[in-house]
Amino acid sequence: MTVTFPMFGAAAPNAAAVAASGDPHGRLLAGPPAAAGWERIGSHLTRLGPLSRCSPDDLRAEITDACLLGRGGAGFPLGRKLEMAAGARGHPLVVVNGSEGEPASRKDQELLELRPHLVLDGAVAAAIAVGGDEIVIGAHRGRDAWDAVAAAIAERAADGIRCHMVDLPPTYLAGESSALVSFVNGGAPLPRSRGAPAALQGIAGRPTVLSNVETFAHLALIARLGPAWFCQAGSRDSPGSTLVTVNGDVRWPGKVLEVLRPVTIGELVEPFLPEGSRPRAVLVGGYAGTWVEWVDARSLPLDRGKLSEVGAPLGCGVLCVLGSQRCGLAETLRLLEWFAAGSAGQCGPCALGLPQLAAELNELVASRPDRRVRRRLNELASSIAGRGGCHFPDGAVHLVESALQTFGAEVSSHRSRRGCNLDHRAYFPLGAFRR
Ligand code: SF4
Repeated sequence: MTVTFPMFGAAAPNAAAVAASGDPHGRLLAGPPAAAGWERIGSHLTRLGPLSRCSPDDLRAEITDACLLGRGGAGFPLGRKLEMAAGARGHPLVVVNGSEGEPASRKDQELLELRPHLVLDGAVAAAIAVGGDEIVIGAHRGRDAWDAVAAAIAERAADGIRCHMVDLPPTYLAGESSALVSFVNGGAPLPRSRGAPAALQGIAGRPTVLSNVETFAHLALIARLGPAWFCQAGSRDSPGSTLVTVNGDVRWPGKVLEVLRPVTIGELVEPFLPEGSRPRAVLVGGYAGTWVEWVDARSLPLDRGKLSEVGAPLGCGVLCVLGSQRCGLAETLRLLEWFAAGSAGQCGPCALGLPQLAAELNELVASRPDRRVRRRLNELASSIAGRGGCHFPDGAVHLVESALQTFGAEVSSHRSRRGCNLDHRAYFPLGAFRR
């Protein structure tokens, strides 16, 4: 049977393996089409039924059996987080992190905009699992996602769990878990390098189950359908479906897809490429991710475990495509400058090192480097990596290192001062970013 991607009419190579919003074979994205807006409580309950009320112990056991890993980037097992919070001193609460500070990602916003009740159900299930009665949803006021969640909360019957929203600052760092805890506690939205994990001591010193939007949406389905059902999607190493945002040089930048069975990056991305185009590379895992040449990327399985094995973790689920006529070094420089501008300025290697790294890379991209540019880039990178108070600068360094490795031909052209004759204009999206 030939199934088509509804937005293009383009043939999908393995349609049962990939779903877009509204596709009936999807899991998180099943339901009404995107054009219908956020799904009302009546449709949600008709489609999925009510959340089953099992005991906290049983619920935690089910989530542990499902091996659900957090989908925000770090991949921490949610079951372990719940066990930590349930066993910690104090009255637990749940925080849904809807900040999605990665500009190339849209999956969490899409879930909040279209399936707010699914996300809220997941948060309720987490609260039940740890004996909590309070949920905080961090999101951005003024966006469609905020309005959809606020309206969905108003629609829900009182179920003994209080639910309120917090307007997060529009910065990348505000979504880092310790920064979010600090902000909700009334402090600055900046990462904290020391202290107990939020699951033990988070908001107001209480055990806090903090995870991203997609993770809670999965939890809502596991609580209904069980771990065996969850593990029917994905792979043995990486169970469950996963949401991916395809961005960059594609026909529909920012399209969110749900991957249900392992497909290759080529199978997922090719239906989105402009006619006759062949990308130069793909940035896997977002802006702190890994550049992979298209010739290698297209055959890689889109599986979290397998991608981590080859050194290109899927992270927050972003695939950013670089067209064949664009310079990967110039795009990397732009992203690096974005990172440098976003440093919280608390640690020297991050606040001083990233601008230096960007200045050095700029000399290379401008084709006026001296002989030792490559060595200085390497030295600067190793003087920054692992020395910040959080992992923020590590991602920037990783991006640069993978660019130097992947774009060897462009490095040679720029070092020889000939330049690469490729397009240096800005292309990948950069969101509102302030300190
Ligand atoms: S490494 Fe950078 S972002 Fe992280 S705490 Fe230090 S200054 Fe802040």
